[in-house]
Parts: sequence; C-alpha cells; structure tokens
Amino acid sequence: MPTCIYCKVDKKPDLFNKEHVLHDSFGSFNNTLTLINKVCASCNSLCGDTIDRLLARDTIEGFKRTQYGLKKNEDFKTEGKSSKIKIRVCEGLLKGLAAYLFLDQKQKKILLKPLPQIGLRKGCGTYDFFAFENIPSFELTSYNKYPCSERMILIPPGVDIDDAIEALKSKGYNYSYTGESELDLENILCEVTRVIDIELQRVMAKIAFNFFAYFNDENVILSHNFDKVRNFVLHGQPLIKIKVDNESILDDEKTANSLRLGHIITLEKDHSNSIIIQISLFNTFRYTVELSGNNNSNYAVNVGFGRFFDVHNMTINEIRKTPLLIPSINLRIPKVKILM
Ligand SMILES: [Zn+2]
Repeated sequence: MPTCIYCKVDKKPDLFNKEHVLHDSFGSFNNTLTLINKVCASCNSLCGDTIDRLLARDTIEGFKRTQYGLKKNEDFKTEGKSSKIKIRVCEGLLKGLAAYLFLDQKQKKILLKPLPQIGLRKGCGTYDFFAFENIPSFELTSYNKYPCSERMILIPPGVDIDDAIEALKSKGYNYSYTGESELDLENILCEVTRVIDIELQRVMAKIAFNFFAYFNDENVILSHNFDKVRNFVLHGQPLIKIKVDNESILDDEKTANSLRLGHIITLEKDHSNSIIIQISLFNTFRYTVELSGNNNSNYAVNVGFGRFFDVHNMTINEIRKTPLLIPSINLRIPKVKILM
C-alpha cells in the first residue's frame, strides 16, 4: 500500500488523489508535474480548502493570475474588506487611503474600492484618512493640525455617504454634504503589501516539498529528516526556515533589466548541506524554503536543478544546474521595482 508523504499513513490507492506539484490554479501546463499515490485524499482536501485556496485568492501572486491571463476577470474572487492584501494609494489627494480589490460585474473589471474611511484635511492641504471606527472625536482633533473650524472633510469616492455622515456625527462632527468630488480610483499609483503569515508559509512549504518529492525516491521522502516540514504543512508547526525577498533566482536575471514570465522552482543544497528550495510565482517574490537542515544521511538526494513554468507557452522547462539558467527561453517582462 502507498504511504502518504504528509501524514505518513499507509492507505489503499483509491484513498489517494492526484496532487499537482504546483496547484493548477497557477496554470494547466502541457507537461504538468503530478504526484500519483503520494498524497492521500484527506491531506489533499485539508490543504485544498485552506492554504491552496488562500494562495489563489488572497495573495499578490494569486491576483497576478488575472493579470497574466490564467484567470478571467469575471472569475475573480477576493476576500474583500478582510483581504490580507493591503492596498494604499500613494499619490494625489487620496494618498494614504486604504482600499481593496473588487470585481465590477458589469464592466468585468477588477477595480479598487476604498475601505470605509473619511479624510481630514491638514494645514498643508493633504488629508489624513481614518477608518470609521478610528475617526478622532471632534473635540480632540487639534486645530493646529486640522485648521478649519468645522474641519475639512473628504468622503472618498466609493464610500457610502450616509454611513460616513453617521460615523462623523457619532464623533461630534457637524458635517453637511456638499457634493461629489472629482476624484476617482482608476489608474492611481498604489502600494500593495501582503503579510507573510503562517498560512502563506505553509503553502510555500507544500509546493517545496511536493517538488522535492517529485524528483526523489520514497525512502528519501519518507525519512525523518522531513517530518518537520510535513507537520508544518499540515499544522503550521514546528516552524521551518522560510526567507522571503525579491531577489532573482536565475543567475542571468540578477543583473538584467528583465525577468522571464513564469514560475520558477529550484532545488539545491547549500554550503551547510541543508536542502533548499527556491520558489517564485510569476517571478515576483522569492521564497527560500529550508526543507531539512544539515542533511548528512547516507542516502543520495537528487538536487541541483530546477523548473521554469512558462505561463505564456504553458510548458515546463528545465533549469540548468549551475549557474541557474534556462536554456533558450527569451520570453521576458521588464523588471519593475516592487514595493514591500
Ligand atoms: Zn495523508
């Protein structure tokens, strides 16, 4: 009977699901990498309903699926106001306004919608934005900071005006609505951040271990060296080492002004013999996952290579050992500065 690589329980083959190394919400590749009789149905659904869903719906990488055509706008789903993707306008009069992404069903466009907030105008002419519950009471706002006697208030476009007036009244503001502003939230520069929480680390650890499992023998995969990563994927503890930055994985992209369009996963051993997987979805952030520390076991581990998931041609290509390069792939996008 096959053994599940996550719960390590022996089960009949019909209790196993086909597991994509990288969830197919990130692309249905022609030569996809799948694990057969390696991940049991209960581990599969435990991850599918939680961390796989989170990766697709509530991460910057998940959102990029619509930008790169892997998902249609009209199928866009979001956690809305409770999304862990934090968006803040960083230019113009709305600078500092917090917003989230939503699907405009009519236009089939993904647009920005502000969280319920109001702006208080400062002496310098710009605004401070406050969530309804954090609006400072009228008596406590300093005249030096907000110098208009009735305070100058901006209700951002898209915020419910009646709700805003209600919130202002409850804080002692005698506000009368004077009409809509000319401001809008289309084509405005924003800073986008996403906390790297345990759930996001778990799903990256799962992609890493799936990838490792695809290229290694069962006696290696099931060894005690990887019990920590198994438990981390399933239960979020004990913690494993995961580093996140926006460095390039591929050697020739470290100095180039462009990046290849696709996902990258590499498998290496570092100088202290730890097994290291690097993952970058849409070649955006680099997650460096330590699968097992100081691996001095007597079995042979297959390391020193990678795969490039080309989201334009929907193929998976080999990455050469050292230096890490993809032979003959020229599809690239310009490198942009990523605010973190
Ligand atoms: Zn299992």
